[in-house]
Amino acid sequence: MFENTLKDLQRLATMTVSVEVETDEKGYLDKQCPATTCEFIFKVNAEDWKNIVRDEAVWCPMCGHEAPADQWYTIEQVEHAKSEAVQVFAGQLNQALRADVDQFNRRQTKKSFISMSMTLKGGSNRTYTMPAKAADAMQLEIACDSCSCRFAVIGSAYFCPSCGVNSVTRTYQDSLRKIRAKLASEDTVRQALTSSIGKDDAELTCRSMRETCLSDGVTAFQRYCEGLYEPYGKAPFNIFQRIDDGSALWRSKIGVGYEQWLTSAEIEVLKVLYQKRHLLAHCEGIVDEKYVEKSGDSTYKPGQRLVIAESDVATMLSLLEKLGAKLHEAAVKP
Ligand SMILES: [Zn+2]
Ligand SMILES: [Zn+2]
Repeated sequence: MFENTLKDLQRLATMTVSVEVETDEKGYLDKQCPATTCEFIFKVNAEDWKNIVRDEAVWCPMCGHEAPADQWYTIEQVEHAKSEAVQVFAGQLNQALRADVDQFNRRQTKKSFISMSMTLKGGSNRTYTMPAKAADAMQLEIACDSCSCRFAVIGSAYFCPSCGVNSVTRTYQDSLRKIRAKLASEDTVRQALTSSIGKDDAELTCRSMRETCLSDGVTAFQRYCEGLYEPYGKAPFNIFQRIDDGSALWRSKIGVGYEQWLTSAEIEVLKVLYQKRHLLAHCEGIVDEKYVEKSGDSTYKPGQRLVIAESDVATMLSLLEKLGAKLHEAAVKP
């Protein structure tokens, strides 16, 4: 008696349901890194996804994982598609069941002593899918320097999803932005931590956060220089962690060093900040003879503990920003 239902069940076994994915108000599609260790969510301009991104390979902007283009649906989109498919299957089956029930009821003869009838209540009647909605637009939009693919992220990104290129300039700017954000959020972090872990630990955390800004700056500039230096060969290990040596290496390749763009006073200030970073990294911030001698900083005696001021970080940021921009102009050949 369930001929229609059984027929439909067979049909459903091979049926495919397609679910549309909507773009956000800026025309971007949601994507998610398929690497389970990452699952970074980002957006790609829908036109560029169609025209620039290749089917064979897409890169995660955060971790650089590479996978074919059909593997970048977000977990939410996949869940939505699954539930839509279930709805449509249920809708189809429900219609078939209804037809069977009607048939059954029609066949019952009114004359018989016992009469039977079936009713079917509820159930989905939907045989079409609803599109997956897009998440809110993201503020940080990036266009790749190499392939011009437009994508958007929250926070920062290292790789272009379409060509996988890691832009040294963008990474450098992102790193400086991150340091600036760390510095700016210090008061908020202190307030939040004071109420949760107490005044002492909050202060300790904030101090350590500020101190890491110096090493973040040194590392960011080092990576940036290494990236810019690539066309000139391999730079000696860690040379861009040292101001004088790095500057001399650039001078030997492009004819100018840091003194071209920074005053000698600014270079001295930067060197002292680099020395402070060195002490924090290797001597837990305790001043030694070598520091006093090398930095010429007479505000400390050996044995004292360094105090990193907000202005130290701000000064480092502005000097590195200036140096970075000028170095890019001089080192990147058109
Ligand atoms: Zn990833
Ligand atoms: Zn690209």
